[in-house]
Amino acid sequence: MFKTRFTLTSKKQLTHDVYELMYSCSEFQENTMIPGQYVLFQLLPWLNRAYSIASYRDQNFTLIIKRIPDGKWSPLICDAPIGTIFSGMLPLGHFVLQDSSVSKCFIGTGTGFAPLYCMMNGCAKWEAIPANIAFIFGVRELQDVFYSSEIQELGSQFQDFKYITYLSREERDGYLRWYVTDWITPESIAIYQEFYLCGSPVMVKSAREKLEALGIEKEKIFWEQF
Ligand SMILES: Cc1cc2nc3c(=O)[nH]c(=O)nc-3n(C[C@H](O)[C@H](O)[C@H](O)COP(=O)(O)OP(=O)(O)OC[C@H]3O[C@@H](n4cnc5c(N)ncnc54)[C@H](O)[C@@H]3O)c2cc1C
Repeated sequence: MFKTRFTLTSKKQLTHDVYELMYSCSEFQENTMIPGQYVLFQLLPWLNRAYSIASYRDQNFTLIIKRIPDGKWSPLICDAPIGTIFSGMLPLGHFVLQDSSVSKCFIGTGTGFAPLYCMMNGCAKWEAIPANIAFIFGVRELQDVFYSSEIQELGSQFQDFKYITYLSREERDGYLRWYVTDWITPESIAIYQEFYLCGSPVMVKSAREKLEALGIEKEKIFWEQF
């Protein structure tokens, strides 16, 4: 982990409130980063905000940030003009991809997507690619879905890839209704050996409880909530 400065180089609005923001950092080195880690923005000397790194390449990293209208800092970060320089620390965190080629299941909601996407990308770069990967993602409505073509493209690199999106607030063809935790049944989880959860505290708690009740060892469940 090191203290550094990074510059906003590109910005794309993915949904009505989610932004893809790319930064360049001359001190960033790909090989010091483990998929799942985050960058800490030091916005004021006493005030920080953490954002999971969604992807990285060379001296660049990308974040996926939800702009919370009444939030103190996410509007400032999302509205910043290209060229804005931020101070912060990276890479940080222990919610990381385990170095094993066993089958993995990623379950996330909202911007909990970011570290899971980074981890799935990490798996695809290994020599021994895991055979079975599941990406189970939940948002409120269809208008909140983002990166589905990126996920499908990445998924095509795995022998058996399952990608399911849940919409909790509306019924739509091609999407399941209600919550990602509904997906957790003995049949659906049977072929996966590791579980990575990221999203709201309620979802993470409920998913952990369901997985443990179905006999998954605590050591095989990795999670982060925000
Ligand atoms: C390890 C870690 C990684 C994180 N990674 C990401 C990431 O990749 N993308 C991302 O967008 N955020 C991420 N977060 C959350 C982020 O750090 C901030 O908490 C978030 O952006 C809110 O900051 P704010 O200053 O705008 O709002 P604040 O002023 O801190 O909060 C304003 C209100 O918004 C609520 N709130 C906080 N987060 C959310 C949310 N996601 N949805 C709805 N309401 C919310 C708060 O409870 C509060 O009521 C991460 C947090 C942690 C701890």
